[in-house]
Formats: sequence, structure tokens, C-alpha cells
Amino acid sequence: MEKTADTILAMPKAELHRHIEGCVRLPTILDLAAKYKFNLPSADPAELDRAYRLRAPGASLAAVLGMFGLAQACFASYEAVERITFEALEDAYKKENIRLLELRYSPDFMLGRAGLDWQRAHDLIAAVCARFEKDYRMVCGVIVIASRSYGLESARRTIEFAAANKKTVAGFDLADSESDYPPALYAGAVKQLHAEGIPLTVHSGEEGHYSQVSDTIKALAPRRIGHGVKAAEDRSGATVELVKKAGVTIETNPWSNYLTRAVPSVEAHPLKSFLAAGVKCTIGADDPEILATDLNNEYRLAVERMGLSLEDIRRTLRFAVEGSFLSPDRRQQAAKELGL
Ligand SMILES: [Zn+2]
Repeated sequence: MEKTADTILAMPKAELHRHIEGCVRLPTILDLAAKYKFNLPSADPAELDRAYRLRAPGASLAAVLGMFGLAQACFASYEAVERITFEALEDAYKKENIRLLELRYSPDFMLGRAGLDWQRAHDLIAAVCARFEKDYRMVCGVIVIASRSYGLESARRTIEFAAANKKTVAGFDLADSESDYPPALYAGAVKQLHAEGIPLTVHSGEEGHYSQVSDTIKALAPRRIGHGVKAAEDRSGATVELVKKAGVTIETNPWSNYLTRAVPSVEAHPLKSFLAAGVKCTIGADDPEILATDLNNEYRLAVERMGLSLEDIRRTLRFAVEGSFLSPDRRQQAAKELGL
């Protein structure tokens, strides 16, 4: 097992599903809280760690999402947005050897609390990514999210925003509370994305019933689905078959799914069966700081507890390059960096 861990550490990696809001380092929280005078549950790093990081399964997806409040407070200024984005890229590159990274954020959730201007913040995020690409051997892009719990009007506004920033927006995502905000609600709004040629991914089948996954595919025609684990609960196999037929890539996040109780155990995660069924899957860490994980850990779980081979992991890297929303030249560069 020691050897597997070393091999995984050294392996160049790709991640398509990572939230900027889930990448705030603990020391950065302490710094920013002192600077912007927001309250912390504790000033003691060990206690703060316990309040900020989920290390065992939470009561529900909603309870886990509640832990994001602290991260949200950190986006208190443009300078903080810039710093957190840079640190997210730095951790991905230096700690995980990630060479292709799609970072995502929800403007309403991340910028709304401090009332930051979306355009100014987005331009800074895009500039940090562009600079990072120049300085390091990693390609990266930004996905803009509409948080469903902010309502349909917020989604419309976020779609407008993405359309106005097509040059620096790699794709679009719908996230959180799928059961309360079913896919059909967004069928009209996403038409604009398709018309503008902005690729869509949707958090679906992370909670609730497996029919949400097929509803999402039928109503929204996304190129990718985040999580999608509930598809495996359709014993007829029809949902997985639909995912496959639609050519949808599933962005799996195994440890996240275990912590939010989307799966009862890591061993029960359907990634291996999805791959065996011919579904294109990638592996992600979702919110590495909040969920105390990273791709080194996710790959280790996949190999040691979910029965994937290192060759399976390499297959997921090929699917990541294929399913990435980045431009063809950047995907090609990523393929080279990943040794594919
Ligand atoms: Zn996510």
C-alpha cells in the first residue's frame, strides 16, 4: 500500500469538480477573520478545525452545506477573493500535482455576503488563473454556478452574467438543493446557455431519487453531471444506460458522497460499477478544505477501498481531458502533462 500511495502522489492529475468556496485554508481563515473582524467559532486552531472541517458523515447534505458559512465570511474583499483563488491553485498544483483544474464558484453565494461586485471579482479570479497558467505547468478554467436555493431569479441573473463573460467562463453549473428545485424549473433558463455555447454541468443525484438524474438529462441536456451517485440505485439499469447513451460524463466525488451520506460507505460508492457499465467518470475532491480531502486521498480511496486499478484511474484522467470544458489547445496541453 505504501507503494500505491507514492505512485498516486507522483501521478499528474486532473480535477473537474472543485468549489473555490471549499478551498479556504485554515490559516487563511484566521488571517482574514483578524483583518476583516468577523467572528470565528473559536480562535484555537484545533477547535476551529473541528468546527470547519467535516471528518465523519454529517446528518444531511443540508447540514454539510451549513458548514460553508465560515468559508463564505472569508470572501470579505476583492483582495481576499484573489488570495483564496491563488491558494486553491497553489494547493492543487503543489500538493496534488494537478495539471488540469476546473474551479467553480457561485457568485451569489460567494460574493453576495460582502456585496462584492461580480464583474470585478470575476475578472480578478480569471486573471489569477491566467497568471497561474503562465507560471506553472497547469491549465485551469472557471465554471460559474447558480446556487438553486437562491431561487430562479438568481439563476437567470447568473446565466446572464456567464453569457456576458463567455471569454473567461469555461462552463456553467447548477448546485445545491436539487430536491427542492427540480430540473424542470431550469429548462427555460438553460436554453440561453445552450444558445451561447456555454457548456453545462449539473449537480444531480447527490441526494433524493435517481429519477432526478434522468430528469436532468432530459430537461437540461448537460454535458456533465456532478455526483450522479443515485443513478446506481435504479435497479433496472435504465438510468445508468441513459447517462451512457447521452454521453454524459459523471464527475464523481467519493469522499464527499460518503460525508454527505449520499452513499452508506466508501466501499458502496458506484464509481467502479459506472466505469464497468461504460460510463465516462472523473474523480474530484469537491471541497478539499471543508471535507479534509484532496485528490491524493480520493485516488487512494478509489484504489484501496473501491477496487479501482491504477489503470482505471488513468481512464478517469482520459475522461477528464475528454469531458473538460477548456479549449481544445489547453486540453491537448493537459493530455501531454498527464502523459496520455
Ligand atoms: Zn460540488
